[in-house]
Amino acid sequence: MNDLEYKKQILDPKSASFCGAKWYNATIWLGSGMTTSCHHPLPHKIDLEAIKTNPSAIHNTVQKKQERKQMQCGDRPKGCEYCWKIEDINRDNISDRVYKSKIFSNESLDEAHKADPNTDVNLKTLEIAFDRTCNFACTYCNPAFSSTWANNIKRQGPYTDMKTDGRNHFTHSHESAEPYKKDETNPYVEAFYKWWETDLHKSLDELRITGGEPMMSPNLWRLLDWIETQGDKMNPDMTLAINSNLGAKQSIIDRLKTKLKKFDKFELYTSCEATFGQAEYIRDGLVYGDWHSNFLHMMVDKVPRAIHNMCTINALCLESLPQLLEKMVWFKSASKVYGPEVNFTLNILRFPSFQSPLVLPDDLRNKFKGDLVKFLTSNSKWLEGMEINQTQRLIDYLDVVKTPHSGAAEQSKLQQDFKAFYSQYDKRSGKNFEKTFPIIGEWYRGI
Ligand code: SF4
Repeated sequence: MNDLEYKKQILDPKSASFCGAKWYNATIWLGSGMTTSCHHPLPHKIDLEAIKTNPSAIHNTVQKKQERKQMQCGDRPKGCEYCWKIEDINRDNISDRVYKSKIFSNESLDEAHKADPNTDVNLKTLEIAFDRTCNFACTYCNPAFSSTWANNIKRQGPYTDMKTDGRNHFTHSHESAEPYKKDETNPYVEAFYKWWETDLHKSLDELRITGGEPMMSPNLWRLLDWIETQGDKMNPDMTLAINSNLGAKQSIIDRLKTKLKKFDKFELYTSCEATFGQAEYIRDGLVYGDWHSNFLHMMVDKVPRAIHNMCTINALCLESLPQLLEKMVWFKSASKVYGPEVNFTLNILRFPSFQSPLVLPDDLRNKFKGDLVKFLTSNSKWLEGMEINQTQRLIDYLDVVKTPHSGAAEQSKLQQDFKAFYSQYDKRSGKNFEKTFPIIGEWYRGI
């Protein structure tokens, strides 16, 4: 059944706004006590009182229950406007609610549709971040998601002289992202474990752990200890996915491999979008050679069944992105020998908009577009359909899209913030933009 038939036959008879993700999927930031359904609606606060008696209230919040009721009646929850905007372009447009419902069985969707909206529901797919502890401070990240970023702002003060939407990412240390200190008990984390031990270990089809860097969090190890000793009680089909920058010490990476070597549904998600010094400039803390070697050793040791590299497409990575993608093709060919499947995704950065590829002038954009066309022409036979589509989508994006998102500042203002940010970043980190990026650097000098 194609996506449109699915929408017409499975979703539309329930209601004009029904989406399975509101019941069965969640992203939860346990460090700050925030939750949302799929990642599109803005996160909202989890009720501390409610989780004292009902740990599943880290997902089954009053707000989500109201939104489920709206969806059962065909009303549109406001927070889901990402989907409504797409559907309003044309009645038959396929929004994410189709893709995010399709992963659940028709029976589960029927159950959700008929259930009392106040009933608590056990999740099927869950992404959690235990805390923001991270050993990296990538340029496109910020203190809300990285303790290294937060410490940088605390030690060296805010970035200044920036005017566009990204500036507040870098002006304070986002302490609300970490209300509980390391030696304090975090009630959201405890509620997660309570729910995990009673229900989630049986109901989840996929658990994805993100961060910060999960390997830096004691809570990852607490969960892996549980899985190591009691994994036979879990849903046997559950996939465990872990996002990692693969920049931890060797002993920590080895510990992860030991814990998961018998778990055959482990998938590793990592990220890198450039090579050598350029990758290290973009992702402060990364040692490119270590990332490469840890990637390869994960394959050779056959610990994950798949490794997915998520490239965050920002302006700076375009100089060496084709080289990185060639490296991915090499990893893909090595996977025929070693086993784990390897693929990549190209996720185009929209925020902070001054780091978007669209900040670059037309001549540079055209040059990088041409480099990607060359890469695609010579390598498409080795790529999956999804990888070809994402590369083509980026080529088209560089060709036709003019602003990173609606409401973004005009390009000249973004370029001023680009210069203001990276000149301060160089001073703080001892890096050198112009030396690291010879092509973009020439233009950067003249801003
Ligand atoms: S309707 Fe769209 S935005 Fe809302 S939860 Fe579903 S997929 Fe996400």
